[in-house]
Amino acid sequence: MLDLHVHTTFSDGQYTPEEIVNLAVQAGIDTLSITDHDSIAGLPSGKAAADKAGITFINGIEISCQGNRELHLLGYNFDFNEPVLAATCMKFARLREERAHRIIDFLLEKGVKISIDDVGEAAHGSAIIGRPHFAQVLLKHGYVATIREAFDKYLAVADFDKIERPKPTAEEGISLIKNAGGIPVLAHPSLLKLKPEAEEEFIKQLVGLGLMGMECIYSLHSHEQVEHYCSLAEKYNLIVTGGSDFHGEKIKPEIKLGVFFK
Ligand code: AMP
Ligand code: ZN
Ligand code: FE
Ligand code: FE
Repeated sequence: MLDLHVHTTFSDGQYTPEEIVNLAVQAGIDTLSITDHDSIAGLPSGKAAADKAGITFINGIEISCQGNRELHLLGYNFDFNEPVLAATCMKFARLREERAHRIIDFLLEKGVKISIDDVGEAAHGSAIIGRPHFAQVLLKHGYVATIREAFDKYLAVADFDKIERPKPTAEEGISLIKNAGGIPVLAHPSLLKLKPEAEEEFIKQLVGLGLMGMECIYSLHSHEQVEHYCSLAEKYNLIVTGGSDFHGEKIKPEIKLGVFFK
């Protein structure tokens, strides 16, 4: 069994790479990729733990791109010492840090008072500060009752866009991964929420930019969606990948490691 889409404490996941490897072994996973948001920092310890546990480890990353909030590119099997990718990840972390301060002010305007230290604590020292860290602080301080409510009320509202961080274009994301010797894959295509015609047109465009795979098998996809995306992958000669997008029960309670299909 495999799971090629998992987050750790190096971005907004609940578990360290070592803990993820242990959980993967318990779940019967023999091929694992750690795909933190905009970060490769968890790969060395994940690889070391996977080697020790005797499971196959694939270097991974999930890069957020501009255009659609859910336009995420997965990159696989690249060299994590490649300098351009490493330097760009450092830049991503800095841009997220700057956005974190804007989010604090944004929340304050809405009557929510939290500090950057609260967020740092929720992020457990991760250089990648994500909205789920803010959601946890809002939950802890009683501003919301669930993580979902934190997004619906504060973190995924229309005017959040004005404080967003700069993101690479899809073209830049694809090049970044390919330049490091990796395979660029479109993550969770259904989350783009495009109508069938626009969706196919968009996938075609990405293929033109060098996209090599699509995450057709995803924990939130129905059987019909899996079939739909697999047939598109076949049509455009894309590699089919599968991943859960596990973050830990505290962050995404509906997603389990190594479990696909709704
Ligand atoms: P960021 O990288 O800061 O934009 O945050 C992205 C993370 O937030 C990803 O793990 C998303 O799956 C998660 N996320 C985005 N929208 C929602 C939502 N409405 N409810 C729960 N999690 C979400
Ligand atoms: Zn995440
Ligand atoms: Fe994603
Ligand atoms: Fe993800």
